Amino acid sequence: MPYLTEQFGNASSMDHTYGANASVAIENARAEIAMAISSRPEDIVFTSGATEANNMAIIGTMTNYARRGDHIITCSTEHMAVLNTVKYLETIGKKVTVLPVDERGNIRLEHVENAITKKTVMITIMAVNNEIGTIHNIDKIGEIAHKHDVIFHTDAAQAVGHVDLNVKKMNIDLMSLSAHKMYGPKGIGALYIRGIRPKIRTAPIMFGGGQERGRRSGTYNVPSIVGFAKAIKIAIKKMSYDDEKYEKWNGLLLTKLQKYGKVNGTLKNRIKNNVNMRFAGVEGKAIINSVSDELAISAGSACTTQTTEPSHVLLAIGLNKTQAHSSIRIGFGRFNTDSEIVFAADKIISTLESLTKVRG
Ligand SMILES: *Cc1c(COP(=O)(O)O)cnc(C)c1O
Repeated sequence: MPYLTEQFGNASSMDHTYGANASVAIENARAEIAMAISSRPEDIVFTSGATEANNMAIIGTMTNYARRGDHIITCSTEHMAVLNTVKYLETIGKKVTVLPVDERGNIRLEHVENAITKKTVMITIMAVNNEIGTIHNIDKIGEIAHKHDVIFHTDAAQAVGHVDLNVKKMNIDLMSLSAHKMYGPKGIGALYIRGIRPKIRTAPIMFGGGQERGRRSGTYNVPSIVGFAKAIKIAIKKMSYDDEKYEKWNGLLLTKLQKYGKVNGTLKNRIKNNVNMRFAGVEGKAIINSVSDELAISAGSACTTQTTEPSHVLLAIGLNKTQAHSSIRIGFGRFNTDSEIVFAADKIISTLESLTKVRG
């Protein structure tokens, strides 16, 4: 609140105390975020979110290292902020390999290694999938990347507060973060850019006044940056406490719902606050609509209408379109309660029963 009201200075205006105070707040936030991922503060660059961080990591790296090569490796279940960015790269002549995943959403490590060529500049593989919660083996993928002198980027928007992230230990060169996935404000995030051993450079995609040492121009969003740092601090502190609750609720929901449907993805290597299931013969959208007064759940992706394409993630793990359309994604969070989870499960069950009855 102070940064939305009395501390209104522009952090780049160092000639007066308003600006200086804002600048101190930003540097404190940067240090807090760096500590959460074991990076150096100066290797954190603030962005408008993980979408921008992914764009900057991918376009910026492929541009800066164009002389090294023109090839990038990613996988089929990435967020659209990665998939549409590599699609753009193809239009400017870059080569893209999109690795498949198995029915659990896992990537085979040998596929990663086999895809590397002399022209490969970078690998971008997400830490945790946002639709089915699969946790990827990013430290191993990073190891493979570094063995072949390839830069490794990971979209970790869904990972903070669920899995330990240590950019030093995990061979991560670039990592995207988003504050609103950890109870922080929307419209703020960061890109970690390795600054030593070796120093990675990304060409800017935003040009202007040269903020963030020229890596990302634009006036700082001071209140959101302060909120982001607070959120990441709490997320790390509460990680194991939250995770225990999620595990319990996950088990509870599955016990109740497994009679009616099937889990999409794997129960192993999965963040525990994600349940993605399909119910044969029922439209996911119909479930979502009929519970929407009391429950906020969604389909596999943001595009949920039957006229739009089904989730690319569900198709990538081998579901057909009908199965993908019969899926729902349930997420729970820090502020849910035991009784809410029981209520949600019972509500979904009664909806499933009435939907299948209507169909006869
Ligand atoms: C939410 C999300 C994004 C986009 O982040 P924004 O901060 O909303 O731009 C990117 N990747 C993953 C995996 C996400 O979950």
